[in-house]
Amino acid sequence: MIQIPDCWLNLVPLLPNLPHYRGDMSVLQKVGIPGCLEQEFSSEKYISIPGPVMDDYLGPLARPRPLWRAVRLERKLGVYGLVEIYIKNEGLPSPTGSHKTNTSVAQAHYAQEAGFRRIVTETGAGQWGTAVAFTGARYGKETRVFWVRAMHDIKPERRDFMRLYDAEVFASPSNQTVYGRRLLEQNPNHPGSLDIAISEGLEDAMSNPGSCYMLGSVLNHVLLHQSIIGLEAYQQLVHGFGVYPDLVVACFGGGSNFGGLAGPFLRDALEAIAGGRKPPATRFIAAQSETAPNLTGEYGYAHPDETGLAPELMMYHLPPDKKMSPIFADGLRYKGSSPMLSHIKKEYGLIEPMVFPKNEKKVFQALRLIMMTEGIMAAPESGHAAAAVVRLARQAQEENLRRVILVSLSGHGLLDMAAYRKMCLAD
Ligand SMILES: *Cc1c(COP(=O)(O)O)cnc(C)c1O
Repeated sequence: MIQIPDCWLNLVPLLPNLPHYRGDMSVLQKVGIPGCLEQEFSSEKYISIPGPVMDDYLGPLARPRPLWRAVRLERKLGVYGLVEIYIKNEGLPSPTGSHKTNTSVAQAHYAQEAGFRRIVTETGAGQWGTAVAFTGARYGKETRVFWVRAMHDIKPERRDFMRLYDAEVFASPSNQTVYGRRLLEQNPNHPGSLDIAISEGLEDAMSNPGSCYMLGSVLNHVLLHQSIIGLEAYQQLVHGFGVYPDLVVACFGGGSNFGGLAGPFLRDALEAIAGGRKPPATRFIAAQSETAPNLTGEYGYAHPDETGLAPELMMYHLPPDKKMSPIFADGLRYKGSSPMLSHIKKEYGLIEPMVFPKNEKKVFQALRLIMMTEGIMAAPESGHAAAAVVRLARQAQEENLRRVILVSLSGHGLLDMAAYRKMCLAD
């Protein structure tokens, strides 16, 4: 029986040269959650999971989440006997549909501890907003979600899902903030973007006392909470199946599910390097969309929001004028990336981006393949990871190399039926 880990894994102490934030920290002091900010640059490698969060993990979040060998997928790809593919599934069972609740329950716990009465957040594809709405309901908090308009307008089911948790949901840009009203004046049909939604949320939280702001990815404490994915997968794969991955694959928006899954395997590599030993030959593949291939951008300081209220983070990011057209996997459409993972890529060369075209054809082919073999209807974001697995398995076959692939499916696609219909069904 696989035990659930009782600590999160923090990679910060393994990264002695990790750059700090730069600029004005007042917004964090005002609307940041103290328990989370304390974790942001903690030098503890293992941080114990508080009781109420563990209750949520063992309860509605149904952890540990399953990991299995996808034998039918291996056979369908014609690589059975050469390539082993292990799926870690964060989609089901998950109350709201993705890995995002792993951190929303932790952030809500620390928000409760600090006495906040109101939670404000942004969301892109809608998964994070739903994860926050879920915890807002459980903790009895007033919850406001600023949702990128392009996605808000095409996902009425997910909007109602959040509203059933009593969250207030606004298409962003909205008329709720000075910044939103200014953008709407310029263009009443403004499609919005994740950094605009963050700016609106920060403005709303700053101007309403008792509010905290929750971020769904990018920051160190979010990756810390998501390490539960990788710690479980490590037990399940390395201790359970007795194999070590040659390839660790996850989709990458801001980097939280990627960093969560890869965490313990990156730990092994970083500790070997620090000790002067040879690290395992594991490759870490970040599946991205051509609409926002942030890991292929410039490495430098940039604001995570649009208006520059938040301090600058040292990260791989896309230029502010980069046109990022909406895609079905909208959780991957963000200009910035986790500073911790950016640093690991830059300093140690351990992370390789793999970019898929924004028409998402390859992605939905791979999603359909997962559905026809393993029966899982995964999120479009996770489809990028699936497409990477297909490509890597075929490469291994061409080169006749034995490979163990570990992949995370970060969410289910049960509320993405419109996307599946458009991309996979003729009528
Ligand atoms: C939000 C989301 C992502 C992208 O965010 P990361 O922080 O990079 O993990 C990927 N998959 C799903 C299902 C999501 O909801």
